[in-house]
Amino acid sequence: MQEPPLSLANFFTRRSLRALTDAERAKVVEAQVHATRPIVSGVVASGAMILALTGMFELAGITPSIGWPWWASEIVALTAGACALAIWHLNDWRPRLMLTVLSVLLVGVFLSIPLPGVDQPTTGRAGLFQLMPIALLALMARRVSMVAIAAAMTAVAALRVGLHGHPPHGAALYWLTLVVAIGFGTMLGGYRTDFAVSTYRVRQKLREQATTDELTGLRNRAGWNREAGDAYDDAVKRGRRASVVFLDIDYFKKVNDTFGHAAGDQVIQRLGQILRERAGERCLCARLGGEEFVVMLIDQAPESVEGFVQRVRREFQEAARDAGVTVSAGVAHRVPAESMGQHMRRADLALYEAKAAGRDRMVVSKA
Ligand code: GH3
Ligand code: MG
Ligand code: MG
Repeated sequence: MQEPPLSLANFFTRRSLRALTDAERAKVVEAQVHATRPIVSGVVASGAMILALTGMFELAGITPSIGWPWWASEIVALTAGACALAIWHLNDWRPRLMLTVLSVLLVGVFLSIPLPGVDQPTTGRAGLFQLMPIALLALMARRVSMVAIAAAMTAVAALRVGLHGHPPHGAALYWLTLVVAIGFGTMLGGYRTDFAVSTYRVRQKLREQATTDELTGLRNRAGWNREAGDAYDDAVKRGRRASVVFLDIDYFKKVNDTFGHAAGDQVIQRLGQILRERAGERCLCARLGGEEFVVMLIDQAPESVEGFVQRVRREFQEAARDAGVTVSAGVAHRVPAESMGQHMRRADLALYEAKAAGRDRMVVSKA
């Protein structure tokens, strides 16, 4: 895989992402966001649950109070729970991020910042609080989201110090803990991104294999079905011309019978190669099966389409001279209000006519 040179712009981009195009990166991010949204919501809900439980423990006298009345913890826990629900349902990522950061702040303040004047050790609760933002950092796909959550963690930490001063074990260790928490979350997030990129690559490869004809490298029937409809609709929408050509090698069975199946394969490959070389960017070529090919040409004049077909036929006949085979073609140019199905049927009928009329010819459908 080609990797672009390291520049300032991609210095902060993960290695696995660097080789992707912008469009591919956008797809990978979208897929990650789609996959992680329920889990992000789940992590926020877990934060709310932890807070609700600590409030109940206080009420039951299992843990000492840190100054907030138990019911205030419960109200905040409910608020964070509502945020989790909204994160699950909202479609725009921006309000989702805002609610995620809000939950981090709310749970952070209540779990790790006791009211001033209350002198209770908060280390345990602060530790509980760290679980939530670390997990969130590991799930975020956008850099802005990671920065926002890291900023929220830092703000809660700064607030804690602002209200109570540094803990007895010292300022350095305190801030080191925060940096380690952010670093750990970021590192996990990075590995998750690598995993998403490799999954994306495997999926692309499988899709390519499933839609490519092994013998000719052209699209196979599945590839044609995937792309032709969209290309055709797009051409119709833009008011472009569209032509469909069916090609079928004449008396091909004889090639197999006379020269063997391997030689037959070579003949099929040759026609595929000619089509690939001759067809420009505005062509969609596929081998539908056996020795039958289809080509869709967009935005080309009828004469140019017919010229293309005749050139392909001539070139193939020359290339396959040893096997003595020719190819028949049926051509149909689009007429207004015609569906793709109707259009293809006309091209198919034209091919049938070419066969019936003695083969080795092109027939253009008369609409
Ligand atoms: P026509 O002029 O009417 O098209 O006659 P034809 O013999 O070309 O047509 P037909 O459809 O009867 O025969 C096609 C033959 O193509 C039959 C099949 O054995 C052969 N075939 C199909 N797929 C392949 C392939 O992948 N490789 C090879 N070598 N032969 C194939
Ligand atoms: Mg044939
Ligand atoms: Mg055939």
